[in-house]
Amino acid sequence: MSYTYDNQNIFAKILRNEIPNKTAAENDHALAFYDINPAAPIHLLIIPKGAYVNYDDFLNHASIEEKTGFDQLILQLISENNLTSFDGGRGYRVISNAGAWGMQEVPHYHVHLLAGEPIGPLRVKS
Ligand code: AMP
Repeated sequence: MSYTYDNQNIFAKILRNEIPNKTAAENDHALAFYDINPAAPIHLLIIPKGAYVNYDDFLNHASIEEKTGFDQLILQLISENNLTSFDGGRGYRVISNAGAWGMQEVPHYHVHLLAGEPIGPLRVKS
């Protein structure tokens, strides 16, 4: 399976510091920043620093170090925001959109971390 990565996508530009972002956390393999159009009181985007189009591209091609670094950054954000329901937090939702039917807008792999109020049903049929 080969994936075509558009290095002019907006998250690639953020990684190159060509456009600003509101950074929440960062490590060697991933960057977390606040969504410009938040859908919840806490709406973070976590992106790998490598050039991956979507979740399955990341699963297919990222190294163990990249995958571990990515997950560690998410875990750090869950901890820093006191979100885990096993430690007094109220919980959260992590989602990733892929492709046309997933309604992915930005073709650089990312996950949304949503929290801060009840996030609602998984899907509202239109
Ligand atoms: P998706 O539909 O999963 O591709 O979501 C892309 C997300 O990126 C949306 O929630 C947008 O609000 C967000 N977004 C787009 N441009 C920016 C930006 N420059 N800074 C922060 N978030 C952005």
